[in-house]
Amino acid sequence: MSWGRSPSVREETTMHDHRRLGRELELFDTDPLIGAGLPYWLPDGAALRHTLEEYVRGAERRAGYRHVYSPVLGKRELYEISGHWSHYSDDMFPPMDLGSEQVVLRPSLCPHHAVIYRSRAHSYRELPLRMAELGGMYRSELSGVLGGLTRVRAIQLNDAHIFCTLDQVADEARGALDMIRQAYEALGIRPARFRLSLPGPGGKYVAAPEMWRRSTALLTEVLDASGLPYEAAEDEAAFYGPKIDVQVEDPAGRESTMSTVQVDFHQPERFGLHYTGADGAKHRPVMVHRSIIGSVERAVAHLVEQHGGAFPGWLAPVQLMVMPVSDAELPQAEALAGRCADLGLRAEVSGREHGSLGARIRQARLVPYQAVIGAAEAADGLVALRLRDGRRLDPVPAGEALARIGALTAAHSTALWDDGEAEPVRG
Ligand SMILES: [Zn+2]
Repeated sequence: MSWGRSPSVREETTMHDHRRLGRELELFDTDPLIGAGLPYWLPDGAALRHTLEEYVRGAERRAGYRHVYSPVLGKRELYEISGHWSHYSDDMFPPMDLGSEQVVLRPSLCPHHAVIYRSRAHSYRELPLRMAELGGMYRSELSGVLGGLTRVRAIQLNDAHIFCTLDQVADEARGALDMIRQAYEALGIRPARFRLSLPGPGGKYVAAPEMWRRSTALLTEVLDASGLPYEAAEDEAAFYGPKIDVQVEDPAGRESTMSTVQVDFHQPERFGLHYTGADGAKHRPVMVHRSIIGSVERAVAHLVEQHGGAFPGWLAPVQLMVMPVSDAELPQAEALAGRCADLGLRAEVSGREHGSLGARIRQARLVPYQAVIGAAEAADGLVALRLRDGRRLDPVPAGEALARIGALTAAHSTALWDDGEAEPVRG
Protein backbone atom coordinates (compact mmCIF):
# COMPACT_ATOMS: atom_id res chain seq x y z
CA MET A 1 0.00 0.00 0.00
CA SER A 2 0.99 3.60 -0.17
CA TRP A 3 -0.31 6.38 1.95
CA GLY A 4 -0.29 10.14 1.94
CA ARG A 5 2.55 12.35 2.91
CA SER A 6 2.48 14.47 6.00
CA PRO A 7 2.50 18.23 5.55
CA SER A 8 5.81 19.53 4.26
CA VAL A 9 5.52 22.84 6.08
CA ARG A 10 8.17 23.39 8.68
CA GLU A 11 6.70 22.41 12.03
CA GLU A 12 6.96 25.02 14.72
CA THR A 13 7.49 23.99 18.30
CA THR A 14 4.16 23.90 20.08
CA MET A 15 3.19 22.81 23.57
CA HIS A 16 2.45 19.35 22.25
CA ASP A 17 5.13 19.07 19.61
CA HIS A 18 5.91 15.35 19.52
CA ARG A 19 9.65 15.92 19.05
CA ARG A 20 9.95 18.02 22.19
CA LEU A 21 7.72 15.65 24.18
CA GLY A 22 9.46 12.61 22.73
CA ARG A 23 12.78 13.86 24.08
CA GLU A 24 11.35 14.98 27.43
CA LEU A 25 9.51 11.71 27.97
CA GLU A 26 12.54 9.77 26.69
CA LEU A 27 10.57 7.92 24.05
CA PHE A 28 12.84 8.37 21.02
CA ASP A 29 15.66 10.52 19.71
CA THR A 30 17.94 10.93 16.73
CA ASP A 31 21.69 11.18 16.34
CA PRO A 32 23.53 12.77 13.43
CA LEU A 33 25.85 9.78 13.31
CA ILE A 34 22.94 7.41 12.66
CA GLY A 35 21.45 9.95 10.30
CA ALA A 36 18.54 12.27 9.71
CA GLY A 37 15.14 10.61 9.47
CA LEU A 38 16.41 7.51 11.27
CA PRO A 39 15.14 7.85 14.85
CA TYR A 40 15.91 5.27 17.51
CA TRP A 41 13.52 4.22 20.27
CA LEU A 42 14.41 4.46 23.96
CA PRO A 43 13.03 1.87 26.44
CA ASP A 44 9.81 3.76 27.27
CA GLY A 45 9.18 4.48 23.58
CA ALA A 46 9.90 0.85 22.74
CA ALA A 47 7.41 -0.30 25.41
CA LEU A 48 4.77 2.02 23.95
CA ARG A 49 5.49 0.87 20.41
CA HIS A 50 5.49 -2.80 21.35
CA THR A 51 2.13 -2.39 23.10
CA LEU A 52 0.66 -0.58 20.09
CA GLU A 53 1.96 -3.23 17.69
CA GLU A 54 0.57 -6.05 19.83
CA TYR A 55 -2.81 -4.31 19.98
CA VAL A 56 -2.88 -4.19 16.17
CA ARG A 57 -1.76 -7.81 15.81
CA GLY A 58 -4.43 -8.92 18.30
CA ALA A 59 -7.16 -7.01 16.46
CA GLU A 60 -5.98 -8.52 13.18
CA ARG A 61 -5.90 -12.06 14.58
CA ARG A 62 -9.47 -11.63 15.85
CA ALA A 63 -10.54 -10.38 12.41
CA GLY A 64 -9.15 -13.46 10.67
CA TYR A 65 -5.79 -12.14 9.48
CA ARG A 66 -2.69 -14.36 9.44
CA HIS A 67 0.71 -12.73 9.94
CA VAL A 68 3.79 -13.19 7.79
CA TYR A 69 7.31 -11.77 7.78
CA SER A 70 9.06 -10.74 4.61
CA PRO A 71 12.51 -9.20 4.02
CA VAL A 72 13.07 -5.46 3.66
CA LEU A 73 15.17 -6.06 0.52
CA GLY A 74 14.01 -7.27 -2.86
CA LYS A 75 15.44 -7.56 -6.33
CA ARG A 76 14.92 -4.64 -8.65
CA GLU A 77 12.81 -6.86 -10.92
CA LEU A 78 10.23 -7.28 -8.12
CA TYR A 79 9.53 -3.53 -8.20
CA GLU A 80 9.64 -3.40 -11.97
CA ILE A 81 6.80 -5.92 -12.01
CA SER A 82 4.83 -4.16 -9.25
CA GLY A 83 5.14 -0.83 -11.07
CA HIS A 84 6.99 0.91 -8.22
CA TRP A 85 10.09 1.24 -10.37
CA SER A 86 8.31 3.29 -13.03
CA HIS A 87 5.76 5.11 -10.83
CA TYR A 88 7.49 5.53 -7.50
CA SER A 89 11.27 5.53 -8.03
CA ASP A 90 11.70 9.15 -6.86
CA ASP A 91 10.83 7.95 -3.37
CA MET A 92 13.09 4.90 -3.47
CA PHE A 93 16.70 4.56 -2.37
CA PRO A 94 19.17 3.85 -5.17
CA PRO A 95 19.63 0.13 -5.88
CA MET A 96 22.61 -1.76 -4.45
CA ASP A 97 24.77 -3.79 -6.80
CA LEU A 98 25.13 -7.35 -5.62
CA GLY A 99 27.21 -9.30 -8.10
CA SER A 100 25.19 -9.53 -11.29
CA GLU A 101 21.94 -8.33 -9.75
CA GLN A 102 20.55 -5.24 -8.06
CA VAL A 103 18.60 -5.21 -4.82
CA VAL A 104 16.66 -2.29 -3.35
CA LEU A 105 15.31 -1.35 0.05
CA ARG A 106 11.62 -1.89 -0.39
CA PRO A 107 9.31 1.13 -0.74
CA SER A 108 6.26 -1.00 0.18
CA LEU A 109 5.32 -4.48 1.36
CA CYS A 110 2.74 -5.21 -1.34
CA PRO A 111 5.02 -6.94 -3.89
CA HIS A 112 6.37 -9.35 -1.27
CA HIS A 113 2.85 -10.26 -0.19
CA ALA A 114 1.73 -10.78 -3.78
CA VAL A 115 4.66 -13.17 -4.28
CA ILE A 116 3.83 -15.00 -1.02
CA TYR A 117 0.24 -15.42 -2.23
CA ARG A 118 1.50 -16.71 -5.57
CA SER A 119 3.79 -19.28 -3.93
CA ARG A 120 0.83 -21.59 -3.12
CA ALA A 121 -2.22 -22.69 -5.09
CA HIS A 122 -5.46 -21.21 -3.75
CA SER A 123 -9.07 -22.30 -3.98
CA TYR A 124 -12.04 -19.93 -3.81
CA ARG A 125 -12.79 -21.58 -0.45
CA GLU A 126 -9.70 -19.88 1.08
CA LEU A 127 -10.87 -16.42 0.10
CA PRO A 128 -10.88 -13.84 1.50
CA LEU A 129 -7.26 -14.58 2.40
CA ARG A 130 -6.03 -11.89 4.80
CA MET A 131 -2.25 -11.49 5.06
CA ALA A 132 -0.81 -9.01 7.57
CA GLU A 133 2.65 -7.80 8.50
CA LEU A 134 4.10 -5.01 10.63
CA GLY A 135 7.16 -4.60 8.51
CA GLY A 136 9.94 -2.22 7.59
CA MET A 137 10.00 -0.13 4.45
CA TYR A 138 12.13 2.78 3.29
CA ARG A 139 11.58 6.12 1.69
CA SER A 140 14.29 8.33 0.30
CA GLU A 141 13.10 11.62 1.80
CA LEU A 142 15.26 14.72 1.30
CA SER A 143 17.08 15.62 4.51
CA GLY A 144 15.56 19.12 4.56
CA VAL A 145 12.06 17.83 5.28
CA LEU A 146 12.94 15.28 7.95
CA GLY A 147 11.81 15.74 11.52
CA GLY A 148 10.88 13.70 14.56
CA LEU A 149 8.73 10.71 13.72
CA THR A 150 6.53 12.27 11.04
CA ARG A 151 9.06 12.39 8.19
CA VAL A 152 11.38 9.42 8.40
CA ARG A 153 13.44 7.33 6.01
CA ALA A 154 12.89 4.02 7.80
CA ILE A 155 9.22 3.20 8.35
CA GLN A 156 7.52 0.40 10.25
CA LEU A 157 4.22 -0.08 8.49
CA ASN A 158 1.06 -1.75 9.77
CA ASP A 159 0.10 -3.31 6.47
CA ALA A 160 -2.21 -6.03 5.24
CA HIS A 161 -3.42 -7.38 1.94
CA ILE A 162 -6.69 -9.16 1.47
CA PHE A 163 -6.87 -11.39 -1.59
CA CYS A 164 -10.54 -11.86 -2.42
CA THR A 165 -13.19 -12.11 -5.10
CA LEU A 166 -14.80 -9.01 -6.54
CA ASP A 167 -17.98 -9.82 -4.57
CA GLN A 168 -16.07 -9.79 -1.30
CA VAL A 169 -14.33 -6.44 -1.72
CA ALA A 170 -17.09 -4.28 -0.20
CA ASP A 171 -17.39 -6.47 2.93
CA GLU A 172 -13.63 -6.47 3.41
CA ALA A 173 -13.42 -2.69 3.03
CA ARG A 174 -16.28 -2.32 5.55
CA GLY A 175 -14.52 -4.71 7.94
CA ALA A 176 -11.34 -2.64 7.70
CA LEU A 177 -13.26 0.59 8.42
CA ASP A 178 -14.73 -1.13 11.49
CA MET A 179 -11.28 -2.08 12.75
CA ILE A 180 -10.14 1.50 12.21
CA ARG A 181 -13.10 2.84 14.20
CA GLN A 182 -12.40 0.45 17.10
CA ALA A 183 -8.70 1.26 17.11
CA TYR A 184 -9.36 5.00 17.25
CA GLU A 185 -11.67 4.46 20.21
CA ALA A 186 -9.04 2.43 22.09
CA LEU A 187 -6.32 4.96 21.26
CA GLY A 188 -8.44 7.94 22.21
CA ILE A 189 -8.07 9.63 18.82
CA ARG A 190 -10.63 11.15 16.51
CA PRO A 191 -10.63 11.11 12.73
CA ALA A 192 -10.63 14.63 11.26
CA ARG A 193 -12.33 13.45 8.08
CA PHE A 194 -12.73 10.57 5.66
CA ARG A 195 -11.43 11.10 2.17
CA LEU A 196 -12.04 9.26 -1.07
CA SER A 197 -8.68 9.67 -2.76
CA LEU A 198 -8.84 9.69 -6.54
CA PRO A 199 -6.21 9.96 -9.27
CA GLY A 200 -5.24 13.23 -10.89
CA PRO A 201 -3.85 14.21 -14.25
CA GLY A 202 -0.40 13.14 -15.39
CA GLY A 203 1.56 9.93 -15.70
CA LYS A 204 1.80 9.10 -11.99
CA TYR A 205 -1.07 6.62 -12.18
CA VAL A 206 -1.39 3.37 -14.08
CA ALA A 207 -3.47 3.88 -17.21
CA ALA A 208 -6.49 1.59 -16.92
CA PRO A 209 -9.69 3.65 -17.01
CA GLU A 210 -12.06 0.69 -16.56
CA MET A 211 -10.16 -0.51 -13.49
CA TRP A 212 -10.24 2.96 -11.91
CA ARG A 213 -13.94 3.26 -12.61
CA ARG A 214 -14.77 -0.08 -10.98
CA SER A 215 -12.64 0.37 -7.90
CA THR A 216 -13.86 3.94 -7.37
CA ALA A 217 -17.47 2.74 -7.62
CA LEU A 218 -16.79 0.02 -5.01
CA LEU A 219 -15.23 2.41 -2.49
CA THR A 220 -17.95 5.00 -3.06
CA GLU A 221 -20.56 2.33 -2.34
CA VAL A 222 -18.80 1.37 0.91
CA LEU A 223 -18.51 4.99 2.05
CA ASP A 224 -22.13 5.78 1.16
CA ALA A 225 -23.37 2.70 3.03
CA SER A 226 -21.24 3.52 6.09
CA GLY A 227 -23.05 6.81 6.66
CA LEU A 228 -19.69 8.49 7.31
CA PRO A 229 -19.30 11.98 5.92
CA TYR A 230 -16.49 12.07 3.36
CA GLU A 231 -15.01 14.24 0.66
CA ALA A 232 -13.49 13.20 -2.64
CA ALA A 233 -10.00 14.53 -3.39
CA GLU A 234 -8.14 14.36 -6.69
CA ASP A 235 -4.49 13.42 -7.08
CA GLU A 236 -4.33 11.61 -3.72
CA ALA A 237 -4.76 8.00 -4.93
CA ALA A 238 -2.11 5.28 -4.86
CA PHE A 239 -0.54 4.85 -8.29
CA TYR A 240 -2.41 1.54 -8.74
CA GLY A 241 -5.83 2.44 -7.38
CA PRO A 242 -8.15 4.73 -5.42
CA LYS A 243 -8.34 4.63 -1.63
CA ILE A 244 -10.31 5.62 1.41
CA ASP A 245 -8.04 7.68 3.67
CA VAL A 246 -8.75 8.46 7.27
CA GLN A 247 -7.26 11.85 8.04
CA VAL A 248 -6.17 13.03 11.48
CA GLU A 249 -5.18 16.52 12.60
CA ASP A 250 -2.34 17.57 14.86
CA PRO A 251 -2.90 20.23 17.55
CA ALA A 252 -1.80 22.92 15.08
CA GLY A 253 -4.53 21.81 12.64
CA ARG A 254 -2.24 20.13 10.11
CA GLU A 255 -3.77 17.09 8.49
CA SER A 256 -2.17 13.78 7.62
CA THR A 257 -3.34 10.32 6.59
CA MET A 258 -3.32 7.72 9.33
CA SER A 259 -5.39 4.83 8.03
CA THR A 260 -6.23 3.69 4.54
CA VAL A 261 -8.25 1.14 2.56
CA GLN A 262 -7.34 0.60 -1.09
CA VAL A 263 -8.74 -1.48 -3.91
CA ASP A 264 -6.23 -2.82 -6.41
CA PHE A 265 -6.88 -4.69 -9.67
CA HIS A 266 -3.43 -3.79 -10.99
CA GLN A 267 -0.97 -5.84 -8.93
CA PRO A 268 -2.93 -9.14 -9.13
CA GLU A 269 -2.66 -8.67 -12.92
CA ARG A 270 1.03 -7.77 -12.84
CA PHE A 271 1.94 -10.74 -10.64
CA GLY A 272 -0.38 -13.15 -12.44
CA LEU A 273 -2.27 -14.06 -9.26
CA HIS A 274 -5.13 -16.51 -9.45
CA TYR A 275 -7.39 -18.84 -7.52
CA THR A 276 -9.40 -21.84 -8.61
CA GLY A 277 -13.10 -21.05 -8.67
CA ALA A 278 -16.10 -23.30 -7.94
CA ASP A 279 -16.22 -23.88 -11.69
CA GLY A 280 -12.71 -25.36 -11.65
CA ALA A 281 -11.39 -22.49 -13.78
CA LYS A 282 -8.70 -19.95 -12.85
CA HIS A 283 -9.83 -16.51 -11.74
CA ARG A 284 -8.02 -13.30 -10.82
CA PRO A 285 -8.38 -12.17 -7.18
CA VAL A 286 -8.66 -8.51 -6.19
CA MET A 287 -6.17 -7.10 -3.66
CA VAL A 288 -7.48 -4.88 -0.87
CA HIS A 289 -4.60 -3.02 0.80
CA ARG A 290 -5.45 -1.68 4.22
CA SER A 291 -3.75 -0.16 7.22
CA ILE A 292 -5.31 0.48 10.62
CA ILE A 293 -2.71 2.76 12.20
CA GLY A 294 -0.50 3.45 9.18
CA SER A 295 3.16 3.80 10.05
CA VAL A 296 4.05 3.13 13.67
CA GLU A 297 6.25 6.25 13.66
CA ARG A 298 3.51 8.61 12.57
CA ALA A 299 0.92 6.92 14.79
CA VAL A 300 3.12 7.38 17.86
CA ALA A 301 3.84 11.01 16.89
CA HIS A 302 0.11 11.61 16.71
CA LEU A 303 -0.58 9.83 20.01
CA VAL A 304 2.15 11.84 21.77
CA GLU A 305 0.70 15.11 20.51
CA GLN A 306 -2.91 14.09 21.07
CA HIS A 307 -2.41 13.00 24.67
CA GLY A 308 0.48 15.26 25.64
CA GLY A 309 2.20 12.14 26.99
CA ALA A 310 -0.78 11.06 29.16
CA PHE A 311 -1.47 7.91 27.14
CA PRO A 312 -4.48 5.64 27.75
CA GLY A 313 -3.67 3.34 30.69
CA TRP A 314 -3.27 0.19 28.60
CA LEU A 315 -0.77 1.94 26.31
CA ALA A 316 1.33 3.89 28.85
CA PRO A 317 5.03 2.91 28.90
CA VAL A 318 4.83 2.72 32.70
CA GLN A 319 1.33 1.92 33.93
CA LEU A 320 1.92 1.83 37.68
CA MET A 321 4.53 3.76 39.66
CA VAL A 322 5.12 2.22 43.07
CA MET A 323 6.42 4.66 45.67
CA PRO A 324 7.65 3.41 49.04
CA VAL A 325 7.40 6.17 51.65
CA SER A 326 10.71 5.11 53.20
CA ASP A 327 13.38 2.51 52.57
CA ALA A 328 11.61 0.24 55.04
CA GLU A 329 8.80 -0.37 52.51
CA LEU A 330 11.15 -1.00 49.59
CA PRO A 331 10.81 -4.82 49.70
CA GLN A 332 6.99 -4.57 49.57
CA ALA A 333 7.20 -2.01 46.76
CA GLU A 334 9.48 -4.28 44.73
CA ALA A 335 7.23 -7.26 45.39
CA LEU A 336 4.24 -5.30 44.06
CA ALA A 337 6.15 -4.33 40.90
CA GLY A 338 7.13 -7.99 40.50
CA ARG A 339 3.49 -9.07 40.73
CA CYS A 340 2.68 -6.54 37.99
CA ALA A 341 5.37 -7.99 35.73
CA ASP A 342 3.90 -11.47 36.28
CA LEU A 343 0.50 -10.13 35.21
CA GLY A 344 1.91 -8.43 32.11
CA LEU A 345 1.56 -4.94 33.59
CA ARG A 346 4.40 -2.42 33.36
CA ALA A 347 5.38 -1.09 36.79
CA GLU A 348 8.39 0.70 38.19
CA VAL A 349 9.54 1.52 41.70
CA SER A 350 10.39 5.13 42.45
CA GLY A 351 12.29 5.10 45.74
CA ARG A 352 13.80 7.72 48.03
CA GLU A 353 16.73 8.29 45.64
CA HIS A 354 14.25 10.14 43.38
CA GLY A 355 13.46 12.71 46.08
CA SER A 356 10.68 13.41 48.51
CA LEU A 357 7.34 11.67 48.17
CA GLY A 358 5.81 14.89 46.82
CA ALA A 359 8.55 15.22 44.19
CA ARG A 360 8.12 11.59 43.13
CA ILE A 361 4.36 12.01 42.78
CA ARG A 362 4.96 15.07 40.57
CA GLN A 363 7.52 13.21 38.45
CA ALA A 364 4.97 10.43 37.89
CA ARG A 365 2.14 12.81 36.92
CA LEU A 366 1.70 11.20 33.47
CA VAL A 367 1.71 7.64 34.85
CA PRO A 368 -1.92 6.41 34.98
CA TYR A 369 -1.66 4.70 38.39
CA GLN A 370 0.45 5.48 41.43
CA ALA A 371 0.70 3.33 44.54
CA VAL A 372 2.17 4.88 47.66
CA ILE A 373 3.31 2.17 50.08
CA GLY A 374 3.57 3.41 53.65
CA ALA A 375 4.00 1.41 56.84
CA ALA A 376 0.25 0.66 57.10
CA GLU A 377 -0.09 -0.56 53.48
CA ALA A 378 3.08 -2.62 53.80
CA ALA A 379 1.82 -4.31 56.97
CA ASP A 380 -1.64 -5.14 55.57
CA GLY A 381 -0.76 -5.91 51.93
CA LEU A 382 -3.05 -3.09 50.83
CA VAL A 383 -2.71 -0.61 47.97
CA ALA A 384 -4.21 2.88 47.96
CA LEU A 385 -4.15 3.92 44.32
CA ARG A 386 -3.86 7.49 43.10
CA LEU A 387 -5.11 7.99 39.57
CA ARG A 388 -3.46 10.37 37.13
CA ASP A 389 -6.58 12.58 37.07
CA GLY A 390 -6.16 13.32 40.79
CA ARG A 391 -8.61 10.79 42.22
CA ARG A 392 -7.49 8.88 45.32
CA LEU A 393 -9.07 5.48 45.85
CA ASP A 394 -9.65 3.67 49.13
CA PRO A 395 -7.07 1.04 50.10
CA VAL A 396 -7.83 -2.42 48.73
CA PRO A 397 -5.87 -5.70 48.75
CA ALA A 398 -3.04 -5.48 46.20
CA GLY A 399 -4.42 -8.41 44.21
CA GLU A 400 -7.75 -6.67 43.73
CA ALA A 401 -6.16 -3.39 42.59
CA LEU A 402 -3.97 -5.18 40.04
CA ALA A 403 -6.85 -7.32 38.78
CA ARG A 404 -8.91 -4.21 38.08
CA ILE A 405 -6.03 -2.47 36.27
CA GLY A 406 -5.43 -5.71 34.36
CA ALA A 407 -9.07 -5.90 33.26
CA LEU A 408 -9.04 -2.30 31.97
CA THR A 409 -5.76 -3.02 30.17
CA ALA A 410 -7.07 -6.21 28.57
CA ALA A 411 -10.16 -4.33 27.36
CA HIS A 412 -7.98 -1.53 25.88
CA SER A 413 -10.13 0.93 27.78
CA THR A 414 -9.44 4.65 27.77
CA ALA A 415 -11.08 4.91 31.22
CA LEU A 416 -8.66 5.06 34.14
CA TRP A 417 -11.01 3.26 36.50
CA ASP A 418 -13.98 0.93 36.13
CA ASP A 419 -16.45 3.27 37.84
CA GLY A 420 -17.70 4.74 34.58
CA GLU A 421 -16.01 8.09 35.11
CA ALA A 422 -14.11 9.37 32.10
CA GLU A 423 -10.73 11.01 32.51
CA PRO A 424 -10.95 14.74 31.79
CA VAL A 425 -9.38 15.61 28.45
CA ARG A 426 -6.02 17.32 28.78
CA GLY A 427 -5.51 20.54 26.94
ZN1 LIG B 1 -0.10 -2.73 -0.16
